[in-house]
Amino acid sequence: MENKKLLGKPVAEKIYLSITEKLQKLHLNSIIPKLSVILIGNDPSSKIYVNSKKKAFTRMKCKSEIHHFDENVLEEHVINLVDNLNSDNTVHGILIQLPLPKHLDSEKIIKKINPKKDVDGFHPENLGNLLQGNPTFIPCTPYGCIEVLKYYNINIKSKHVVIVGRSNIVGKPLFALLSQRFKIGNATVTICHSHTKNLSKYTKMADVLIVAVGKSHLITDNMIKDGVIILDVGINRINDTSQKGYYIVGDVDFDRVVNKASVITPVPGGIGPMTIAMLLYNTVKSAENKFI
Ligand code: NDP
Repeated sequence: MENKKLLGKPVAEKIYLSITEKLQKLHLNSIIPKLSVILIGNDPSSKIYVNSKKKAFTRMKCKSEIHHFDENVLEEHVINLVDNLNSDNTVHGILIQLPLPKHLDSEKIIKKINPKKDVDGFHPENLGNLLQGNPTFIPCTPYGCIEVLKYYNINIKSKHVVIVGRSNIVGKPLFALLSQRFKIGNATVTICHSHTKNLSKYTKMADVLIVAVGKSHLITDNMIKDGVIILDVGINRINDTSQKGYYIVGDVDFDRVVNKASVITPVPGGIGPMTIAMLLYNTVKSAENKFI
């Protein structure tokens, strides 16, 4: 079973190694890549993600700062901070930790970020560039999926990739990446969502199945064909009686599909570590862009 796992850690380490050389050049010119994270409210998962990002930046000797607002913050206060960070020359990346409380318009706030500092790649200008085949900042989780495919020599050209989930941060950018004339691309891509009738009709057709929904055990063994390659992006918390109080699973019923699939990313330990690695990669790229 172990040899079927596409682990994210070695892929992430390779990315960190590639960043090291870039960082040395930047440091020689007194530039230290810096990420500013805006965290709103007290969502426990968001706090964990933000702290993991901070840890990775510290480890790589990059800077990161967290601006933490109260749950009820006014939208104009958040936008004022974004404006200030846009004009702060020491800040190379701005990230709004999603999801935001319901009274805040995440699309409006993201649009205020200077696209040159949009290291999450969610600004319409960056998403538009990606769709036109000229990516600037590629959203981190889809970028992480691409790097996993690259690292494990998985050729998707002319294959049928089925993506379940069509969010702006995972499903749609993945569609844009995998369907275009990129090195890791040229696949035939089907995208499914909550209104897809008979989901398993499509998942069974997949040579490569990528699932980003947020529902544990959504994909089971009777929904896939033999030999399928699976990337499970989902992260779901299941409460238990452990000290932590929960454990994490993906959207795919790992134990049931693992014998049928040829390879699969585990949760945790698959795509998760890649998201942070690509965030660091994008932030270093932003610092380099400014320097060049
Ligand atoms: P969203 O909630 O924004 O999107 C979920 C998507 O799944 C929607 O397109 C929705 O369809 C679709 N969907 C919901 N139910 C079904 C169903 N029964 N059948 C088919 N499609 C369905 O989630 P995100 O894209 O933000 O995240 C998805 C998952 O990935 C989450 O578990 C999240 O935690 C995880 N994630 C993991 C990351 C990582 O670092 N590994 C990073 C980002 C996210 P519709 O559009 O019709 O509503």
